[in-house]
Amino acid sequence: MRTAQQYLESLRNMKPNVYMNGQIIQRDDPRLMGGINVISTTFDFAADPGYAGLVTAKSHLTGKTINRFTHVHQSVDDLLKKQEMTRFLCQQVGGCIQRCMGIDATNALSVVTKDCDNALGTDYHQRFLKWLEYFQENDLVGCCAQTDVKGDRSKRPHEQVDPDLYVRIVEKRDDGIVVRGAKNHITIAPYAEEIIVVPTRMLTEKDADYAVAFAIPADTPGVKLVTRATMPRERKYIKTGRVIGSADCFVIFDDVFVPRERVFLCGEHMFGGMLALMFALYHRHSYTGCKPATTDVIMGQAALVAEYNGIEKAPHVRDKLADMVAVAELVYGAGIASAVKAKRAASGTYVPDVVFANVARYHAGVKLYHEFETLADLAGGLPATLPPEEDFYSPETGPLLHKYIMRNPKISAENQHRLFRLLSDTLCSAHSGVMQVAGLHGGGSPIMEKIAIMGTYDMESKKKLAKYLAGIKD
Ligand SMILES: Cc1cc2nc3c(=O)[nH]c(=O)nc-3n(C[C@H](O)[C@H](O)[C@H](O)COP(=O)(O)OP(=O)(O)OC[C@H]3O[C@@H](n4cnc5c(N)ncnc54)[C@H](O)[C@@H]3O)c2cc1C
Repeated sequence: MRTAQQYLESLRNMKPNVYMNGQIIQRDDPRLMGGINVISTTFDFAADPGYAGLVTAKSHLTGKTINRFTHVHQSVDDLLKKQEMTRFLCQQVGGCIQRCMGIDATNALSVVTKDCDNALGTDYHQRFLKWLEYFQENDLVGCCAQTDVKGDRSKRPHEQVDPDLYVRIVEKRDDGIVVRGAKNHITIAPYAEEIIVVPTRMLTEKDADYAVAFAIPADTPGVKLVTRATMPRERKYIKTGRVIGSADCFVIFDDVFVPRERVFLCGEHMFGGMLALMFALYHRHSYTGCKPATTDVIMGQAALVAEYNGIEKAPHVRDKLADMVAVAELVYGAGIASAVKAKRAASGTYVPDVVFANVARYHAGVKLYHEFETLADLAGGLPATLPPEEDFYSPETGPLLHKYIMRNPKISAENQHRLFRLLSDTLCSAHSGVMQVAGLHGGGSPIMEKIAIMGTYDMESKKKLAKYLAGIKD
């Protein structure tokens, strides 16, 4: 396993292909450091013996201890541990841990490459396992590039006016393939070492060129990462430890050569669609760990500001906090259920239950904005109007602001200020805006979870139940 420092060194050795604000930038650019710091947390806890078995796992390929973010789930317990690890690490960074994309994509590939081989006699699974061993041995950070730019949403990939609006194979060669197209919203791509590409939707026979999956180094020639990054507002006086942030990009494949050994699907349209759904399923299971953590972060601030404001015993406050507990623990509980009800795929990988994982993700997504609303409600308007930090430390206005920010006399002015600075980041920063939209759309827009639920749920048995209770015999 690597250290955070080794990870940073590896990023520094990559060829520059990250673009931001019209310029090509280095991967250790200060604007990316917030996200790099988040990923570094996954290395730090893996190295801490206190978290052995939670943030680490035993590779089923080599028997070696590996970072759990590179592991393929071999049991129900592995799925439970991934969920627990995700909630824990998200709490540590106060938001998304960001490395889940890689683990979810590798697990999906481990299942679908085997199923495809079994059905069609292809040899993707062995290729994939060879790449996985390299991924695990080098403790690499992988992003998952699933979401195509998609053009006209009402049209399939082959029906688009421009055929490049979904990533597609433009050339097949003996030694590999050439791909063209663009994925958007791809989180951590500027500070990931591997880009794992999977299709975004169900595909028809006519969409065969779009049924493509592969993994490539993120600095492969022809790959362009056009990036935006956010961090909570910079602190000059009140420091809290590691600065966190995130970055997402357009990943553009400008006729990129992918060597044969890194190609994991190449034209099998049925399995392309299955891979899209399988990745979404694993990712929604990850959400059953990260969304409860997001609620923990918001709920903790809501409870604390209620205490500082002297309103924590008011019935409406307790009611709102109870609502948050209900969301966090129901989502977490459904995640546990989806792990306990997991099934073993032909590859040996454990696959979470579709209905439990999707109801959890759906529930978390639709409640997210309500949680921000509750926090804003209990905090009052100050998170929006808090004067800049400098004014709290200037000789003229600092003492006055510290006097007038006081509420509960048992809480120091500095701590009142610290909490409202955090609330301001959580509710009103650019970073918070991104996190809110991510909470709704990440892993698929809300309707996608309902489609997955209704595609799997046994509604016929409920109709039979109604007939039985009504005495209908047919
Ligand atoms: C911060 C953030 C980070 C993300 N990170 C990643 C990542 O790392 N990797 C990755 O692959 N993806 C990532 N995503 C992408 C995410 O999965 C998508 O945003 C999501 O799937 C929605 O796709 P879209 O943004 O193209 O929106 P659209 O698909 O355009 O959705 C907009 C609306 O149109 C509806 N709609 C779409 N198609 C149809 C249709 N055919 N018929 C009827 N209604 C339709 C949707 O339900 C939705 O209500 C991220 C997203 C965000 C916001």
